[in-house]
This record gives sequence, structure tokens and C-alpha cells, in this order.
Amino acid sequence: MTTTRAEASRPALPSFDPATGRVMAEVPANTPDEVRHAVARAREAAPGWGATPARDRASALREVRTRIYERMDDIVDTITRGNGKPRAEALAHDVLPTVLTITYLARIAPRALAPQRAGTLAAPLLGMSSRIEWRPFGVVGCISPWNYPLLLSFMALTPALLAGNAVVLKPSEMTPEVGERMREVLEPLPPGVATVVQGGGEVGAALVDAPCDKLCFIGSTATGRRIAEAAAKHLTPVVMELGGQDAAIVCSDADLDLASSGVLWGAFLNAGQTCCAIERAYVVDSVADRFEELLVSKLGRLRQVGDEMDVGPLTVPRQLEIVERHVEDARSKGARILAGGGPARRPDGNGSGGLWFAPTVLAGRTKDMALFTEETFGPVLPIVRVRDEDEAVERANREGYNLTASVWTGSRRRANDVASRLVSGTVTINDHAVTASAPWGLWGGVGESGYGRLHGKLGMREFAVPVHVATNLIPWVKRPYWYPYDRATNQTLHGAAELFAAPTLSGRLAGLGKVARNALAAFRAKI
Ligand code: NAD
Repeated sequence: MTTTRAEASRPALPSFDPATGRVMAEVPANTPDEVRHAVARAREAAPGWGATPARDRASALREVRTRIYERMDDIVDTITRGNGKPRAEALAHDVLPTVLTITYLARIAPRALAPQRAGTLAAPLLGMSSRIEWRPFGVVGCISPWNYPLLLSFMALTPALLAGNAVVLKPSEMTPEVGERMREVLEPLPPGVATVVQGGGEVGAALVDAPCDKLCFIGSTATGRRIAEAAAKHLTPVVMELGGQDAAIVCSDADLDLASSGVLWGAFLNAGQTCCAIERAYVVDSVADRFEELLVSKLGRLRQVGDEMDVGPLTVPRQLEIVERHVEDARSKGARILAGGGPARRPDGNGSGGLWFAPTVLAGRTKDMALFTEETFGPVLPIVRVRDEDEAVERANREGYNLTASVWTGSRRRANDVASRLVSGTVTINDHAVTASAPWGLWGGVGESGYGRLHGKLGMREFAVPVHVATNLIPWVKRPYWYPYDRATNQTLHGAAELFAAPTLSGRLAGLGKVARNALAAFRAKI
């Protein structure tokens, strides 16, 4: 195949192997002009796709799912290579929840998007019937990060497509080969309905500015702020799925074997590069010694090498820099390193050039530390000892922002009490992080973790415009609130307000009487 001049000058995105730092491949990037073209094509495709019945759109998404199934091993290899994560994690937290998301949302889409009757009691009193229709926005732009490159793209584009929108997806430039795999699996959809554009921040910015009719951004809080500003120029609504510094609360009655295993996993999953990774474990004093002992001993059993590796390298150099800075800063300000604290030493000595850092547990987190004020997004777990559960809740809410949070306890009552007081988008009891893979629930943050929701019926409706269609049920009678505003009209309306608002039965009956005495004259006078 010959290369055109345009292709030769096209920017390329390197795909790195985080384990060695070597470039494995290069993927062509798109230009901002091509992004605008993709949005224009999506705009042409949107009406036809939006008019396709929801059950047919669901079938089309199931075909996409079949293509994922057919290429599963290749996709898992691509994610494992590009992210440096263990195969088990590529399967458990990218491929499996993606097919689950498509399966579940495709099943609920026809019902979730069907018109709904509203005001079935109140509306007929005004001679009206009301229904809410869920209509597509048109073109949805999705921008996703690199840490779970398949799932976090499909969590946004699946509901957007099912709701009848055409989608332009910009995956992360850090995992461009996964972007190519997604382009392949989306091919069965009609032309223009789902387009993948590749590139960095400038390509994402072109998508925001195209403009789209709705955006779904999944990434850091800092980039989210920039996107919110750019989107405001066009008044484009955005679903914001941002960062987190999740808290785990280990109560005095927790099963410590379970809690230490669960907190260990919730903190170091994907080398801590998880938006809902545990970045603070508040442990009640009376059980803290035993919890720490168990956690550190289990951490010593994690493998950073081999086919059954548990914790891989960091995925991008910037993340390694942040982790090193946070740990050094904490150490210099008095933190005690209980485990790890430096570059991972792989037993095979085969990690030079890679982005390795040993899973690290530390004590003595204080508010002057960078890891207190910033999201770390790496394999670092501070343990904070607290007097009791009340102090844990208060500090979990004050000392960072929770995308999700978890409570570890043997008592259902205590679990519900603590959960009800936590400021967080999700609270998990005796587990952590798992709800990202639960499409029947909901996914979204509070405060600096963002706004808007993915997953479930709510998440599907994020990508639909609710339109109230109201029908006059008695069109042969002019409405009592039309012109003229004569005395009988005023009395009728006053009576109606009394009927609904009077605190006593006699007051309501007086209102009803006023309506009965004046309504006929009011109706007769209408012009
Ligand atoms: P990032 O904000 O650097 O980048 C995310 C995406 O935004 C990338 O595709 C990037 O190219 C694009 N982008 C960058 N600048 C842009 C701009 N000006 N306009 C438009 N697009 C732009 O985040 P990251 O490093 O890829 O991901 C890590 C962050 O994402 C962490 O903070 C993590 O907590 C967060 N995250 C959140 C969730 C969630 O569901 N809430 C999930 C995963 C990751």
C-alpha cells in the first residue's frame, strides 16, 4: 500500500511497554480538522440512528459485543501490554464489565427509554394528559482515560448509543492500540454512528469545541475543570467522571482477615491507578495493630513478576513521577514507611527502564503532605488510626474527596449507619471499587469527583433529553386561565388554589365552593 503525503505527515502516537519503557508500536493520530469532520458525519448519521427503534439499537450493540467476544484474547493482550497490568485485571475489570455493561444496558434500554405517563392523578383535573419522552441529544462526544481503557470508553458510549445518539469517542493517547481495537469492534454500526478519533489533549479539545450536543468526560479533576470551561462556551452539558481519594473505614468489629485482604486489593488494584482506589484507610485504634500486621504480611506475598503477577508497573511516566514525589514528600514530613517506599525490585532483574514502584504502606499522613492535598493514583496506601467510627467518618469526609468509600464491619446496623454519613458517590460495605463493574447500579461522584451518572436507567437517561408532551384532553372547551382575566376567572383560580393549599377540610371545601360558583361564568366569558 502506498503512503499519501497526508499520511506521511500525520502525527503518530507511540505505544509504550510500561514494563520496559520501550516503544512497541505507533498508531496514527487524528488532526483537529478530522475531529470536526467526524462530528459532522456523526451529525448526519444521528437522525437515522435516533429514529431506529431502541430494541434494534440494542441488537446492534449486541453485535458489537460479539465482536469483542471473537477478539477477546487479542483485546486482553493489547490492554495487558499497553497498561502493564496483569491479565486477570484486563479480564476482570475491562473485558468482563464491558460485556456485562452492553448486556445489561441493551436489555433495559427499550423500557428505560419508553415514554412515561406523568401526573396520572393531577393532570386530568386540568383536562390534560402528560407523557415524558426520552429523546436523543444528537451527537455525544466521549473522552476517556487510560487506566481501564476499554471499560471506561464503553461505560460512556454504550448508554449514549442505546439512547439514540451518534458518538465520537476520543480514547486516551496513552493506550492508542486499545483505541484501534475499539474502532474494529464498532465497525458493524452504521457509518458515522460511532467514530473513534485518536490523539492527545488538543484532539480532545477539538471534540469539545466542535461542538457536540452532550459530552461525557472521564479523567482527572484538573482536565475536567478545563473541559467544563470550554463546554460552557457552547452551553454543552457534560457528565463529569473525575478523580478520587477514596476512604476505607475499618471498624472495631471488622473481620480483620477479610478487611486486610479487601483493603489491600482496593488500594493496589491496577497498581493503584484506579479512580476509586483506596487512598486513605481509617482504622479504629483497638484493631489497628492487628490490621496493619495482616495487611503488611499479605502485601509481602504480592508478585510483581511472572505470568501470575499481581501488581504491574505504573502505566505512564507522569504517574511514576507523582508517586515518587508523594512518597518522598511524605517521608520528609515524618511519615513512617511500613512497606515498600521505592522502586520495585523484580526478582528477574528485568525491570530496568520500566515504571516500577513497590506497593507502599505508610503511617502518619498529615495535611501538609502532597498525598493529602492531591490524588496519588498509584500504589500508595496511608493508614490513619482513629479513636472510633465517628472520628473516621468525620475525617473521611473532611480530609479528601471520595468518588467511592467503603465500610468494613461485621454489623449490618453499623455498616448502614456509617454508610449513611459518608459523603461519596458510592458506598460499598465489606468490599471496594467493585461497583464500577455493576451496570445495574450507578456510577458517579460528588464534589471534586464530578457530577452526572453512568450505569443503570439513570445513566442511560443522562444521554437522553426528557421532553414533556402535554395533550389538552378537552379541546372543545377553552381553558379557564385564558383571556379575559375577569372577576369570575380570578375567583375560580383563587378557589382552585384554596382547594389545594388550605390546611383544613373546611378551607378546602370553601375553595371548592368558590370554583363551583364561578367556573361556569369564567368559561362562558372566554374569547
Ligand atoms: P487526564 O485528565 O489527563 O486525561 C483524560 C482524557 O482527557 C484523555 O483522553 C486526554 O487526552 C483528554 N484530555 C486532556 N486534556 C484535554 C482537553 N484540554 N480537552 C479535552 N480532552 C482532554 O486523565 P488520565 O491521566 O487519562 O486519567 C487519570 C485520571 O482519571 C485520574 O484522576 C482518575 O481518578 C480519573 N478517572 C476517573 C474515573 C471515573 O470514573 N470517575 C475513571 C477513571 C479515571
